[in-house]
Amino acid sequence: MEAVIAGRPTRARIDLNVLGANFRAIAAWTAEGAAASGRPAPGVVAVVKANAYGHGAVRVALALQAAGAPMLACADIEEAVALREAGVTVPILVFGALSVGDLDGIFTHRLTPTVATPSAAVALGDAAARRGVRLRCHVKIDTGMNRLGFRHDNLRRTLPPVAASPHLQVEAVFTHFATADVAGDPDFDEQRARFDAVGPVLAEIGIVPAAWHAANSAAIIRDARTHYDAVRPGLVLYGVPPLPTTMPVEPVMSLTSRIVAVKGLRPGEGVSYGLRFRPDTPRTIAVVPCGYADGIDIRLGGRGAVLVRGRRAPVVGAVCMDMFMVDVTGFGAEIGDEVVIIGRQGAERVTVGEMAATIGTIPYELLCRVGHRIERVYE
Ligand SMILES: *Cc1c(COP(=O)(O)O)cnc(C)c1O
Repeated sequence: MEAVIAGRPTRARIDLNVLGANFRAIAAWTAEGAAASGRPAPGVVAVVKANAYGHGAVRVALALQAAGAPMLACADIEEAVALREAGVTVPILVFGALSVGDLDGIFTHRLTPTVATPSAAVALGDAAARRGVRLRCHVKIDTGMNRLGFRHDNLRRTLPPVAASPHLQVEAVFTHFATADVAGDPDFDEQRARFDAVGPVLAEIGIVPAAWHAANSAAIIRDARTHYDAVRPGLVLYGVPPLPTTMPVEPVMSLTSRIVAVKGLRPGEGVSYGLRFRPDTPRTIAVVPCGYADGIDIRLGGRGAVLVRGRRAPVVGAVCMDMFMVDVTGFGAEIGDEVVIIGRQGAERVTVGEMAATIGTIPYELLCRVGHRIERVYE
């Protein structure tokens, strides 16, 4: 039987119900942590940068807004403007450094910028002054990551101009952890201690923000003391916890394709560029129509496995630009059979975490790299 396949057969299924359930699971988890110490439940700022970790930013953002997210977060102004144009109305925090040229979108699309450097404070303050408005912003403190943010140990020198600006209103103050996903790492606690010490310094300077936030996915899982007034989950929202957890989240994305060719390999013959897979027994090879141009990492060749007919089929030979080959010897596989690259098939499962571990990368990278040619199908 040769199934007729309409369009490209490689698809990323995005389950928006699972996404909503994950959002609620994070909210419940952090609410529980807060209740244990008599604090109000933190807000869940849903991170949808980088095309929502490859899941499709617009549909994901609209679903999270519908699920009750009080705020979304993007990497830059362009990402945030695209969400506004698609109908997102909740506040959107922009994490990235703001260059002087592209600030218009902040005002025209009611975005919440991060003030992370003295020069950004000046540029935003001036832009707000020209428009005669007071701009709500979040101030980022660098507590040890040494990326963006005002150094935690230099705030008395750098923040007074921010406090004095009549055109900037500091709504929240935040920091970001460098080692939250490294279990037992002492720098994680050190960053939290430094962030805790920022409060009194800001009060002295005259900045009294309504909210404090710090926790990415790993910190949310690991330490309720980092939850403060809001948390900022990315990866765990998509159902891929960066640390082992009992939090009930499930993967939002599954990646599937279909076999487009099956052929017999005679003993001693090789497969794909370089003919590096060259078995000395007869094998059956199936061709899967997606490749490194679609985000299928070349390092999966000879290492990874996909699911065909409920069994694991090893990826053999070099992954090509638009195709890769799997060994389906003895599977009875046929053209049109479903191939699960990430997800479940029968009792078997391939997770993005497993795939990342196989090739020595992180799940973040694999999700973000799911290519533009792969249709996202929402359910
Ligand atoms: C990406 C990002 C997050 C989310 O990180 P995850 O590890 O995916 O939860 C949170 N905060 C900031 C500042 C980020 O850049």
